[in-house]
Amino acid sequence: MKFTILTLFPDMFSPLRHSIIKRATESGKIQIDIVDFREYATNKHKKVDDTAFGGGAGMLIMAEPVVRAIEAIDPEHKAHRVFLTPAARTLTHRRVTELATAHDHIILLCGHYEGIDQRAIDLCIDECISIGEYVLTGGELAAMVVVDAISRYVPGVISADSLARESHTTPGVLEHPQYTKPRTFRGISVPEVLMSGNHAAIEQWKLDQSAAVTRTIFIPTDSK
Ligand code: SAH
Repeated sequence: MKFTILTLFPDMFSPLRHSIIKRATESGKIQIDIVDFREYATNKHKKVDDTAFGGGAGMLIMAEPVVRAIEAIDPEHKAHRVFLTPAARTLTHRRVTELATAHDHIILLCGHYEGIDQRAIDLCIDECISIGEYVLTGGELAAMVVVDAISRYVPGVISADSLARESHTTPGVLEHPQYTKPRTFRGISVPEVLMSGNHAAIEQWKLDQSAAVTRTIFIPTDSK
């Protein structure tokens, strides 16, 4: 899987150079290219933003550098082109897994300031994605969230066992609590059943706990 991230702030992406994503990159399972689209501005001072027509606070990124960058990177429109924006559907586990299997090159366009001239979106973008119902200062963190979440489902990045039973793998179901050594920490013991060796009982405990966590999170207090 190849990701190309289009940004005005290429230095923000060091979080992708650690741990599991670092190993996936080094082993060639994923490739992450970071492109500063300011390079595609044609004016003398490489200015990429201006005030919005119709008024409104703040600056808007102009269409031209964005469109020229995408045309240069993906001239035949083979990649899936995503714009990160709060004005879109929120990303879900299901969409993450679909994106991981349906595409081998994903372009992620990061807005900044007030966003991007709509014509760049209309001309170049296949899908808009929000990572949550709040507003960030830029799309860079959102792009990293999307790269991280999708990379987990690229074959070989994480073992199939680990992926099989995590929160959201079954829609709307969250994971049960987990424990490791020592058996007692600050007076709190690991639930007895987990040390019993009784696999059926352990399995039942996990299912029950998973259901309990899911209820606590998803069912509003007043309807309990
Ligand atoms: N004026 C815009 C917000 C701009 S925030 C609006 O009201 O919709 C600046 C940039 O941050 C956006 O262009 C987008 O790329 C990114 N961004 C902010 N919040 C985001 C979110 N929840 N999900 C994905 N990207 C987001």
